[in-house]
Amino acid sequence: MNSHYEVNSHCELSHCEFSHYEVIIVGAGMVGASLACALTRAASAGQVVPSVLLVEAAPISLDGPPRQPGFDSRSTVLSASSCDALAGLDLWPALAAHAEPITQILVSDQGRFGAVRLSAAEAKVPALGYVAENGALGRAFNQALLRSQRFILRANTRVRALKAVPGGMHLSLEGSDEVLSAALVVLADGGRSGLAAQLGIERRECAYGQSAIIANIACELPHAGRAWERFTPKGPLALLPLPDFEGEHRCALVWTHPAAEAEAVLALPDAAFLARLQADFGQALGELKKVGKRALFPLSLTMASEQVRPGLVLLGNVAHTLHPVAGQGFNLALRDALTLAHEVRSALALGTSPGDMRQLLRYQESIAVDQDLTIGFSHHLVSLFSSNKPGLGLVRQIGMAALAHVAPLRQALARQAMGYGQPRVDLE
Ligand SMILES: Cc1cc2nc3c(=O)[nH]c(=O)nc-3n(C[C@H](O)[C@H](O)[C@H](O)COP(=O)(O)OP(=O)(O)OC[C@H]3O[C@@H](n4cnc5c(N)ncnc54)[C@H](O)[C@@H]3O)c2cc1C
Repeated sequence: MNSHYEVNSHCELSHCEFSHYEVIIVGAGMVGASLACALTRAASAGQVVPSVLLVEAAPISLDGPPRQPGFDSRSTVLSASSCDALAGLDLWPALAAHAEPITQILVSDQGRFGAVRLSAAEAKVPALGYVAENGALGRAFNQALLRSQRFILRANTRVRALKAVPGGMHLSLEGSDEVLSAALVVLADGGRSGLAAQLGIERRECAYGQSAIIANIACELPHAGRAWERFTPKGPLALLPLPDFEGEHRCALVWTHPAAEAEAVLALPDAAFLARLQADFGQALGELKKVGKRALFPLSLTMASEQVRPGLVLLGNVAHTLHPVAGQGFNLALRDALTLAHEVRSALALGTSPGDMRQLLRYQESIAVDQDLTIGFSHHLVSLFSSNKPGLGLVRQIGMAALAHVAPLRQALARQAMGYGQPRVDLE
């Protein structure tokens, strides 16, 4: 390698111990774990695989449910392009058995007649995306993390502080005097650890004044691959197809309410909760029979004031959190992660440090359009459908009618939902 950038040589086996790495990732949620797999997947001729350490505060084992906080009782819509990417990272085979294909998306505006139907058949694809429970995603990711010989995983280890030093960053760990160093630190800590704030990076927040109630719902009729997105005056209501379980047809619910009302709905007895949901959703799934464990998520759009600095990248929820209306948060972060992995490997092939600011600015430039489009799409969808401003009802009606009758518009929307509407990096 023609190198003016020198660190300890590239790590190939999990039993080698360095305290300096080319890349340290903080956080093995969905985003940090995907990045570790993307950075270290098999290299073709001329490519360089960086030495990578992945540090996770929660314990990771295959006994019992995953312990990382993101692998909770939610479900995630994986766009078709994310499924392609996860297949390229060898993660899809473990996930596919737990993922339900979406073959139709039905979008409607409560109180107005008609719905827009996006269909896999019209888009000429087997599925517009897949839905998987986060617990199942966690088990598949954790299997891959524990199995990988390509990077080092330190679970049950919390990063206490980060410090910029010439040529990279130093990390100190909670309960230890050990100091780790890296040419590039990728902060994928979900934004709750305070590490970004320690570095003076602010989170800009726009609260929607809404909270999402999530739960699994058992229903009388099979969903037949349909996902429903219904806009109500209180906020969007989504029912997403899940695999049947123990003979029951199931859907994942994401039900948005004004923040002030959400706690009361969350606390309703099961029968009253289901009756209210049935009234808002209607009869398309027959009787809504059972509701599983419920959880509440206050919703806001947050953006980090900086996503790159010399030797540092913010990725996933710490960089941006979106309203879940279009199911895009992880899908967007996965595309960011693939682009970053591409830039890191390109930097190493050129003998440049992966923390070099020129390289990181190239990364930032490559993701900017996708982030603006995806974040803007989710944000404007919420604003348009949650507002009672005079005139907006008419705008919605015209928009829905146009989508219902103009096939190219529907196809553009389907491409956006599948994650193919944005420029993206293919796995080399
Ligand atoms: C209701 C809801 C529904 C959603 N639905 C969808 C959807 O359908 N599709 C979609 O694409 N997105 C969806 N999202 C968004 C998606 O959940 C997030 O984008 C994704 O979870 C972000 O993951 P992450 O890895 O960035 O963060 P996290 O999952 O929070 O992971 C961060 C990890 O960092 C670890 N950590 C924290 N601090 C430290 C430290 N100091 N040292 C070491 N480790 C640390 C944590 O233990 C954790 O494991 C939804 C979000 C919500 C709220």
